[in-house]
Amino acid sequence: MLPLKEKDKVIVQQLLSAGCCARCVLRFCCVSIQSAYRKPCQETLGELQAFISDTQNGSSKDPAALEAVGEDDKSHDASVPGAGEDPPSKRIKLETATEGQPEGGAGAEEQLNPKNQESHVCIVCLGILQELCDATQAMKIAEAVKAEDYEFDTLVLSVSLPAQLCVREYSCWLHVKNELRQKNVAFCKDDIIQVKEAFKWVMQGLVAKELSGVAVVTKSVFEVSVEFTHPETDADCHFLAAACPDCFKPTKNKQSVFTRMAVVKALEKISDAKFLKDCPCPPARPATVCSPQDVQCLHLSVFAAGRYNKFSRSLPQTPWVIDGERRMESSVEELIAAPVLSAFRAKAFNFSSSGREDVDVRTLGNGRPFAMELLNPHRCRLSREEMKQMQETINNSSDKIRVRDLQIVSREAMSRMKEGEEEKTKSYTALIWTQSEIQEEDIAFIDQIKDLSVDQKTPLRVLHRRALAVRQRVIHRMNARYLDPHHFYLGLKTQAGTYIKEFVHGDFGRTKPNLCELLKTETDILELDVESVDVDWPPAIPE
Ligand code: ZN
Repeated sequence: MLPLKEKDKVIVQQLLSAGCCARCVLRFCCVSIQSAYRKPCQETLGELQAFISDTQNGSSKDPAALEAVGEDDKSHDASVPGAGEDPPSKRIKLETATEGQPEGGAGAEEQLNPKNQESHVCIVCLGILQELCDATQAMKIAEAVKAEDYEFDTLVLSVSLPAQLCVREYSCWLHVKNELRQKNVAFCKDDIIQVKEAFKWVMQGLVAKELSGVAVVTKSVFEVSVEFTHPETDADCHFLAAACPDCFKPTKNKQSVFTRMAVVKALEKISDAKFLKDCPCPPARPATVCSPQDVQCLHLSVFAAGRYNKFSRSLPQTPWVIDGERRMESSVEELIAAPVLSAFRAKAFNFSSSGREDVDVRTLGNGRPFAMELLNPHRCRLSREEMKQMQETINNSSDKIRVRDLQIVSREAMSRMKEGEEEKTKSYTALIWTQSEIQEEDIAFIDQIKDLSVDQKTPLRVLHRRALAVRQRVIHRMNARYLDPHHFYLGLKTQAGTYIKEFVHGDFGRTKPNLCELLKTETDILELDVESVDVDWPPAIPE
């Protein structure tokens, strides 16, 4: 037996005659027992028919409920003066709401004929809960998921409905509400079960069964989206744009301004009088059923992290493209990404690192921490052994880079890499050229310099992409290693973010003090190596 109350008779009667499917009728009766939706539609329809034709029962409990069915507009108008008796919660003016309701004898006849109902597409769900919500559809969804070959334990089913469904739902609600109003019965829109909910209640179990018992849950890293469109009734929303123009502003990413969100917003704003002027109540009967679109699968990102060395002075960190033309054949990012993408079977990635080096700078020592967000990975559970193999694949693919400590990390852990980046230190070795001849003792004083504070105006070479500012950075320690009268190696330990090249050549006086001033001769930097990036993340993996 359906858990329906006497007052639901009006709702059932009204909606069946208007052309609602049995499941939509249950929704409007606020039936929240999931199993009620899982019964075959035909069976539910039969029960609903029996419920409203049960005149004996009905008349004994609430004679008004049955009398009200099929009443014409006149009787609505007659009750207008009594509007003051309505509960104060009723927001909508009755006199406007009763206009244009095309109900009457025809509807009352129709509801008694189940065959006639069967041949009609539901005026609210547009067939979704009638024909697109059963074992056959569940099998199609499961097949689409299987074909993608994802690795997952649970999934969340998400449903995207045509926006006009909201308009139709609203129209039906007004239709029923006005009828109930006659009997001083309040009918809150929020109590109606959503189409999405009802769809999931029916489908979740069926899809789970088709996927050999995988749990279909409300929250999961793996999302299966089902989308329905209904071009026939797309124009249903259009009158809202004239009524509430501010709700429908064009946005870059959306094809249509009639998004579900915009329509819901407009429905909250529009007065019932305006709504009923342009929208039939109840909604017109559609000729066709919604079309299901391709099932979309999306796995939340997985994050991988490690450290890389760069041994080449002609390898950029990221692809170097100027005016659409590639300048260098590869990049650190691409050399690392290729094997990682294929192992996780991910569609795309975002690469980030703790700072970056110029194309001509090597990164030695323990390397530079990096992390990759792998978008929509089909695999997500790689073992330690598999990660190690992947690392070897990267390392064998090129002698320009080397990766260590490659591991899967959480999104939260990734922020550790950027945390306090400014406070971290970095060590470098630079090959310096001097214009004047130098002796070993000329540069010995450099070793004594401790915590030298340097003001750096944004370097000329990056001024095109960074704002002009003065940065203060600290060079903690330096040491000099004499090579010949015009060359020496300079070791530096600095605060992260120090512009080393500019400190050496002075950048036309934009960095002060600089090495030229300290040595009282022109100096330039010929080679630069990063010796260490002192970020203790990701954790080292013992060999
Ligand atoms: Zn329906």
